[in-house]
Amino acid sequence: MKPIDCELESEVLAAVLQNRWPDRVDASLREHVAACAICADVLAIAGAIDDAREELRARAVVPDSGRVWWLAQMRARREAAQAAGRPITAAQVIAFACAMSLLGACFGATSAWFQSALRQTASSLAGLRFQALLPFAVAFVSEHGAVLLGMAAILLVVPAAVYLTMLRE
Ligand SMILES: [Zn+2]
Repeated sequence: MKPIDCELESEVLAAVLQNRWPDRVDASLREHVAACAICADVLAIAGAIDDAREELRARAVVPDSGRVWWLAQMRARREAAQAAGRPITAAQVIAFACAMSLLGACFGATSAWFQSALRQTASSLAGLRFQALLPFAVAFVSEHGAVLLGMAAILLVVPAAVYLTMLRE
C-alpha cells in the first residue's frame, strides 16, 4: 500500500519556503526526499509556490522614497489649505448674507421716509435760504435719529464681527 503521509514533508516544505533547499539542509533529508515520493511531490509543489512568490516580488514596483515623501508633503499642504479655507469662506458668506439682509431690511423699512425726506429737502432747498435748513436738519435728525443710529451701528458692527471671526479662524 502506498503511504499518503510522511513525517518529514513539513520539514521539506519549510526548507524550501525558507530558501534553505537544497544547500542548507541535512544530507539525510536530501537522501530521504530522493527516496520518498511524497516528499518529492512536496518539493515540486513548494518549489512552484516559491518561484511564483519570487516572481511577484520582482514585479512589485516600489516607488522611490523621495517621491513618496514629496507626494505626502503635497497632500498634507493641500489638506491644510482646504481645512483653513473652508471656515473662512463659510464665515464670510454668512456675514455677507447677514449684512446684506440687514441693510436691505433697513432700506426697505426706511425707504418711505427716505424718499419723503429727499422731497422735503428738495423743496426746502428750492424755497428757503441756507439758515432755514438748520432747524430742518435738527428736526430730521431728532425725528429719525434712532434709525440713523441703528444703521450706523450695523455698518460698524457687521464688519467688526467679520474681522474678529476671521482673526479667530
Ligand atoms: Zn518523505
